[in-house]
Amino acid sequence: MHFLTILLAGSALAQDPQYDLLLKGGHVIDAKNHLSAVRDVAIKDGKIAAVAANIPATTALRTVNATGLYVTPGLIDIHVHFYAGTGERGSYAGDLSLYPDGHTFRNGVTTVADAGSSGWRNFEDFEDRVIKRSRTRVLAFLNIVGNGMRGGRYEQNLEDMEAKPTAEMALKHKDVIIGVKSAHFNGPEWAPYERAVEAGTTANIPVMVDFGSNRPERPLYDLVTKVLRPGDIYTHCFSGLRKEQDETTGGPAKALIDGRKHGVIFDVGHGGGSFAWRVAAPIMKAGFVPDSISTDLHVGSMNNGMKDMLNVMDKFLAMGMSVDDVIAKSTWAPAREIKREELGNLSVGAPADVSVFKLDKGSFGFVDMHGARMDSTHKLICELTVRDGKVLWDLNGITRDRWDKLPANYGPQGDPKWDGYRRVAPQRPAVKKENK
Ligand SMILES: [Zn+2]
Repeated sequence: MHFLTILLAGSALAQDPQYDLLLKGGHVIDAKNHLSAVRDVAIKDGKIAAVAANIPATTALRTVNATGLYVTPGLIDIHVHFYAGTGERGSYAGDLSLYPDGHTFRNGVTTVADAGSSGWRNFEDFEDRVIKRSRTRVLAFLNIVGNGMRGGRYEQNLEDMEAKPTAEMALKHKDVIIGVKSAHFNGPEWAPYERAVEAGTTANIPVMVDFGSNRPERPLYDLVTKVLRPGDIYTHCFSGLRKEQDETTGGPAKALIDGRKHGVIFDVGHGGGSFAWRVAAPIMKAGFVPDSISTDLHVGSMNNGMKDMLNVMDKFLAMGMSVDDVIAKSTWAPAREIKREELGNLSVGAPADVSVFKLDKGSFGFVDMHGARMDSTHKLICELTVRDGKVLWDLNGITRDRWDKLPANYGPQGDPKWDGYRRVAPQRPAVKKENK
């Protein structure tokens, strides 16, 4: 009987089903296509092939039951630090950074943008060490500091902040460099921001600003209404460290309101020290919501209040944002901000980066930068992550068959057409290995 089943499965394979992978019956949230409804999502050759009601299971090589789950575009986290592996101590171009794949897929994240860990002097080392070796789609904001985030000695050096070589490097690597970053600057000068904007203008990419120390010589209001261009990104918007909050009302400062009118993007960038409940909750309550949700993931923040992308998204659910909005601000919104509109959506033909979430109900706690907690009743759990049509995370084995339903002597399961860990065996002549 088993033998016959295998034969039938074999002949079905030979007929090459219409789709490689089918996610059936999930609640699809696709902000670009204004879709929030139960739909089936079919994938073929790494692309979204169809999104429709009732796509028959027989049309796919592998069908996954996504009933009761959310099916969304792969999450995009535009503020991470992933320039690991250089061995430099106490540096975001070193030991404070993480390797991507161990942190992304388990959170439903398929695309990240490193936020300025490298500059034009060391970007190509970052590319070789991390970007080209990762299955996560790693993009980068290039630091306006040539040496990137190698610590104070480098990051406060105005002489290493040059627009021309920064723009040249960005243009040379248009495929991965999606913006320019300024961060951690303590001085009174406007030069870091002006030069970042100059580089961003030459390379036609946005600038992301971590506004460093609060300095009266360079007020936030001027940054977001005069220095930055529409489409530039102000990250760490709920830190409260640079007068983002109105001192009397507790709501958004005039800088945030007028900055948004000017077209500046306000991004979360939670990090280790950039998200306080006493700032975020009243600003949100006053109706000012962030444009995009991001983590500022690094060795410190992940073991503190930030934790991971889903934990940050959960905080916005806790403040009353809808699941649809939280997903939109972690997919389609960041895709547009970094001008990668082929990502963050489930249009037919788009790369098949898809995530599947369960919304868990219970009692949960969420901690901010100061160690204050907010309680909440909901938590997103990542069940499945698909990058370019390949399953790279499957928490509960929903793509898998039960072991006791398989032939007694079953071998490796999965198919390289949809299983990201099942490689096609290399075709090599059998050569006897010589003893050394
Ligand atoms: Zn950062």
